[in-house]
Amino acid sequence: MGISTVAVFSDADADALHVQKADTAVRIGPAPSRESYLSIEKIIAAAKKSGATAVHPGYGFLSENAELAAACQGAGLIFVGPPPEAIRVMGSKREAKRIAREADVPVVPGYEGADQSPAQFAEAAQKAGYPVLLKASAGGGGKGMRIVRSAAELSEAIQGATREATSAFGDGTLLLEKYIEQPRHIEIQILGDAHGNLVHLFERECSIQRRHQKIIEESPSTAIDPALREKMGAAAVRIARAIGYTNAGTVEFIVGPDGAFYFLEVNTRLQVEHPVTERVTGLDLVREQIRIARGEPLGYTQASLSQRGHAIEVRLYAESPARGFLPSSGTLVDWDVTPVPGLRVDGGVSANQEISIHYDPLLAKLITHGETREEAIDRMLLALGGLSAQGVDTNQRFLGRVLEHPEFRAGRIHTHFIEQHMQEALAETPSPSLTLEAAVAATIHDAITQARGRTVLPSTVPGFRNSPTSEPTTRYIAGDATIAVSWRWLDHQRLSIQGSEVRIIRCEGPVVRFEEGGLVRDARVVARGDRRYVRTHLGALAIDEVPRFPQKKEVRATGAAIAPMPGKVVLVAVKVGDTVARGATLVVLEAMKMEHTVRATEDGSVTAVSVASGDQVQSEQALVVVTPA
Ligand code: ADP
Repeated sequence: MGISTVAVFSDADADALHVQKADTAVRIGPAPSRESYLSIEKIIAAAKKSGATAVHPGYGFLSENAELAAACQGAGLIFVGPPPEAIRVMGSKREAKRIAREADVPVVPGYEGADQSPAQFAEAAQKAGYPVLLKASAGGGGKGMRIVRSAAELSEAIQGATREATSAFGDGTLLLEKYIEQPRHIEIQILGDAHGNLVHLFERECSIQRRHQKIIEESPSTAIDPALREKMGAAAVRIARAIGYTNAGTVEFIVGPDGAFYFLEVNTRLQVEHPVTERVTGLDLVREQIRIARGEPLGYTQASLSQRGHAIEVRLYAESPARGFLPSSGTLVDWDVTPVPGLRVDGGVSANQEISIHYDPLLAKLITHGETREEAIDRMLLALGGLSAQGVDTNQRFLGRVLEHPEFRAGRIHTHFIEQHMQEALAETPSPSLTLEAAVAATIHDAITQARGRTVLPSTVPGFRNSPTSEPTTRYIAGDATIAVSWRWLDHQRLSIQGSEVRIIRCEGPVVRFEEGGLVRDARVVARGDRRYVRTHLGALAIDEVPRFPQKKEVRATGAAIAPMPGKVVLVAVKVGDTVARGATLVVLEAMKMEHTVRATEDGSVTAVSVASGDQVQSEQALVVVTPA
């Protein structure tokens, strides 16, 4: 559009990709988001300082903040988003539900009153019937949300949800809803201009979720026929009209197994998953947002819009599916995407970047488009297979397993898909063939690196031995498996690996190309200490070379409850001398804006408490010691 860009960044993001890509960048403060990305004052000051004329709020931090929108207007800046008043009413899930009812759009039964007493919630829960769902009225991203299956769980759930909501949104107000079992999450994208034109851009299905947070989205939805699409689209436009909405927004619904749909909320911003809509409608939503903000008319009608093909997005997170999807932090040692037809990568990272605990652990979004759903899925599987995102734990392999699942392939999905179908895939170890391939590739790469580093007798065959029977062996560990790879140079180009001949074609940086048994293949190997981050044609994997002299492992007190990731202690629920039962809450931690409860793994008594509320803790740090009864 010929518009130059200004990025804002915190101290933690000084080298981040968005800073590198922008024409100008403004440092706005320290890492904690309250002192940088969540400071309206600093955002406005950055706009002034850089001479920006408009502010696009993105899709995190202040993107749904009415005060930011108002402050922009006050400062003579164009806010690329809806009017502040529309953001304000929709920022409250309670208010939003009232408006939806008035616009004749069905809502989930529940309680959204002003009385926030536990007794009132208990009564409302009884009336709606368990299970119920507690939600933060100001919520988003699944934060401050708790499923409550019985009256006994209610009080702890209220406390947890209030704490999380207060910390994430500065507002602890809760509402309660009947919990719909096995629903699908389907949302409608809307666009409205300042001239009264309002259209919807069809649906996105976002039912594949963990922690109530989307990880795979697609458009069209396999659950929607043309009649339902038209009904839901019309309902979305009615709500938008009722609040005088302009710019891009999303009206979220849940759809029951019977096809009944209920309004959830309006997201008054661009959604993370907007690219799937872009791929099927051919419209660039950010471009449309800017055009609308400039006062231009949409220039098209509902009838002129259509869906073409099928698009899928997966969210690649730095997290560990095997550990309850806990965020993972550290250095992203390798980042490499293999091109695939129809693939778009919306990435926020580059190699050697620190993935900090300060922000959401979303690394990138991969979006594929195809003529059919099958084609879009197949292309995504290719893209995931060819991705090397290593150094932190990611959900890469897990995403692939979801896409391969026969029920997903058949389009039979709902918001509990992962709990219902994917439990075995969570802790799944890499296949023995991938592990072996990775070990072989690492051995080849190491052998070449070593040979190139030789200063003594570089003309002799590298690693020459006069006893051909004793081949050097390198051992690697991957999870529980140990792999021994025997190898020996045959000449300057050829290696014998596990007894078979490997010809090196080329080795440049991390990439090695070799021929074995008539097959020519590529592998990618990045070394950091004893660890080898490898990508083979079978996928990506980190393996550890076994050091020749084993190191002493740190001894940990038995019964010690440890921090599963780095974070901040928000609550210590026990003191020395307390008797606890298995499952009792010991400590509550907060990291990446989510709360994690550390529970007792057995009955016993608390014999040590080594942290206090407010402490910053490291991963694996002992928090509380429970001595078994
Ligand atoms: P957030 O604003 O935190 O994203 P939403 O209200 O949009 O919260 O809900 C997020 C997800 O939680 C939905 O996609 C759905 O999976 C689940 N959910 C929300 N309300 C209900 C409900 N009443 N019954 C069952 N699931 C629900």
